[in-house]
Amino acid sequence: MTDKIDNKLVQGKHNHHRCIDHALQVAEQVCLKKKLRLTKIRRQVLQLICENHKAVGAYELLDLFREFDPNAKPVTIYRSLDFLMDIGLVHKIESQNAFIACLQAEKQHKSVILICGQCKNAFEIDATAVYENLFALSKQAQFEPQYLTLELHGLCVNCQKV
Ligand SMILES: [Zn+2]
Ligand SMILES: [Zn+2]
Ligand SMILES: [Zn+2]
Repeated sequence: MTDKIDNKLVQGKHNHHRCIDHALQVAEQVCLKKKLRLTKIRRQVLQLICENHKAVGAYELLDLFREFDPNAKPVTIYRSLDFLMDIGLVHKIESQNAFIACLQAEKQHKSVILICGQCKNAFEIDATAVYENLFALSKQAQFEPQYLTLELHGLCVNCQKV
């Protein structure tokens, strides 16, 4: 994916296998570079998050994960999520306590997540300039910024038509 959001992606008219392959491939690369292990469980959790572009909650993930391991416990999911978030392969949508896979984890980015209130699809767009602006403003207010999460709620192009 490039800096600009891919419209085909948003409209769902795309080969989603490529999204999954890309996310898993980047995951391997990122782990290799950081000398971390993408264990089978971590990979499976990531794969489940990638299943579609909807944000998925931890308990929903646990249910899905039980196909792999019927005895899986919430801690299994939480540990994997923490790992995947730490290295930027997964983003948390704070307002929904849900997760999406990053489709551009291979590069540095600061994004805003666009969340469709109807179909729950969620996509990232790079918003580095917005972050820089806000951080500069906060510094003017003598505030030392640490982190910022940006979410934009609305309707995706498919759901606007309905
Ligand atoms: Zn896709
Ligand atoms: Zn991302
Ligand atoms: Zn939608």
